[in-house]
Amino acid sequence: MARIQKLAPETTGKIAAGEVVERPFNVVKELVENALDASATRIVLEIEGGGKRSIRIDDDGTGIAAGDIPMAVENYSTSKISKIEDIFRVRSLGFRGEALASINAVSRMTIRSMEEGMEVGREVRWAGGEQREDRPLVRKVGTEIIVEDLFFNLPARRKFLSSDASETRRIVSAIQGFALAWPGTAFVMRSNGRELLSFPAGTLEERVEMVLGPSVFPHLKPFSKSDGSLEVSGYVSMPSLTKGNRSSQFMFVNGRYVRDKLIGHAVRQAYQSIIPGDRFPVVVLMLETPPEMLDVNVHPSKAEVRFENERDVHRLVSSAVREALEDRTISFRDKVESVYRSIFPEDNSSDTPAGKDPQGISRTAEPGRSDWLFQESPRPLFEKDGGGAHGQTSTGLYWQLHDSYIMIEIRGGMVIIDQHAAHERILYDKARRNLEGEKAIVQSLLFPATIELSPDEYDSFEKIVDTLPGLGFEAEPFGMRTIIVRGIPAGVRNWDDGRLLRTILADLGRGLPATDSILRSFACHSAVRAGERLTLEEMESLTDQLFATEFPFTCPHGRPTMLRVEMRELEKRFQRTPGTEG
Ligand code: ADP
Ligand code: MG
Repeated sequence: MARIQKLAPETTGKIAAGEVVERPFNVVKELVENALDASATRIVLEIEGGGKRSIRIDDDGTGIAAGDIPMAVENYSTSKISKIEDIFRVRSLGFRGEALASINAVSRMTIRSMEEGMEVGREVRWAGGEQREDRPLVRKVGTEIIVEDLFFNLPARRKFLSSDASETRRIVSAIQGFALAWPGTAFVMRSNGRELLSFPAGTLEERVEMVLGPSVFPHLKPFSKSDGSLEVSGYVSMPSLTKGNRSSQFMFVNGRYVRDKLIGHAVRQAYQSIIPGDRFPVVVLMLETPPEMLDVNVHPSKAEVRFENERDVHRLVSSAVREALEDRTISFRDKVESVYRSIFPEDNSSDTPAGKDPQGISRTAEPGRSDWLFQESPRPLFEKDGGGAHGQTSTGLYWQLHDSYIMIEIRGGMVIIDQHAAHERILYDKARRNLEGEKAIVQSLLFPATIELSPDEYDSFEKIVDTLPGLGFEAEPFGMRTIIVRGIPAGVRNWDDGRLLRTILADLGRGLPATDSILRSFACHSAVRAGERLTLEEMESLTDQLFATEFPFTCPHGRPTMLRVEMRELEKRFQRTPGTEG
């Protein structure tokens, strides 16, 4: 390792200044970063009293040259950079040369280190920054740092620390983060003598499973994508697993654990319309970028970074995660298939011999997939005035509750579908596909409608005029603030003489609307509402099409489209046990 030297004042003046040590967590973070920078392959951390009483970290890295140890704890002394430009080249986690100094000033610290290739090492002890002991020492190559009685000389700061348990929790989560980013390094953590974490070196996959646990791992999907010199990879949870907060989101830039808004937003966007806004996916994300495109000198504890190419980063992260989520549709459909199978008991089609249709033509033998299930309905879903069949709504299979929910008997109980949410999902997916290039199916209006818009509505109209054909609207300007509409999307039945389009336009408001908000607004206002009576055919078609969408279980706002009620649950609520009769 390079020698430690003091940075010149013109360099230190440019380094993001601020408090490094707020709580035991920060101490641990800095010490682990130092061990990783020293190429440690095994890091052992022991804390007592939540890290307030003591923090001991032992690594098998390169060690510190005996002569450099006193220098290591001085302000702005580092072996990692020598001038400010170096921070745009730096591959190490540290670069400010301040951590050991700051920690030393507020604790009783001991450094024991033995440099690679040396026969004798050195141990130095300080208290509140004052040197107390200094002696030669022999140990294996590597460094051991002990930090005791944090803030012993600053009682006011000590008061702000949380309970042992909560300080310990923070540290555990930091070690989990490091462990995810550095799967090739072994980590052990003990608290008050009890082992809390132990991760042997391994592959990323093994590490992810170990850190996040066997119950989370099956819901995760790996991803990786690159774009020029940017590279992103990691694991994200399928919509089947979300959390109530961000504590299971781990994001790293060049191995650095960050809380980055840009990356967070890009991930969030990939989940848009898939999970509710108040739920959080599990995320392990590593971004690799050339150091010269990254400013790490933004935040005193290095938790934030700034990218030169923000747009590229955002686009890459969002699309990589989205692709991972969409890819899962295969097994998602498998799941749908199993729900659907139970909705339609097999004996329903038992008059058709397996694999053959009545004409004797072989069906495609793709496993787990039945053709009729994924076919687009050939007719528009809701034809105008299709309400002639009222009274037919209750059969053995479909039943409409309060003109709002479709109840379907399935083998182990029943499924309840929210007709509005379900139709929203269908329209959203269709419109999305149409915008991505598939041609929208338009139903022409018998009499083209001219609609006069308010100034705001007209404003919105002009902004989304290029998007409208993709949705299935044939509309164009027709004089001052008036538009003429010749066709509307097939499957939309609440056109209501143009009110539908006006509502969507009014919804979009000022600013350039994001495609997704256009889609959601369109889906929401065009979808059949709660309180509308559906015919049997419509219920069937709605259910069919819902299951053919990519994410049938949630609406574009992330709310559930269906609930499953198990017979077992009914039995429990009726306090029936097997064999209870009468
Ligand atoms: P920085 O990491 O920003 O350089 P620090 O105050 O954290 O500053 O550490 C100062 C110097 O001490 C480092 O540059 C490094 O040379 C040395 N050092 C600290 N911890 C270790 C360690 N565990 N192994 C080897 N060297 C270390
Ligand atoms: Mg450091």
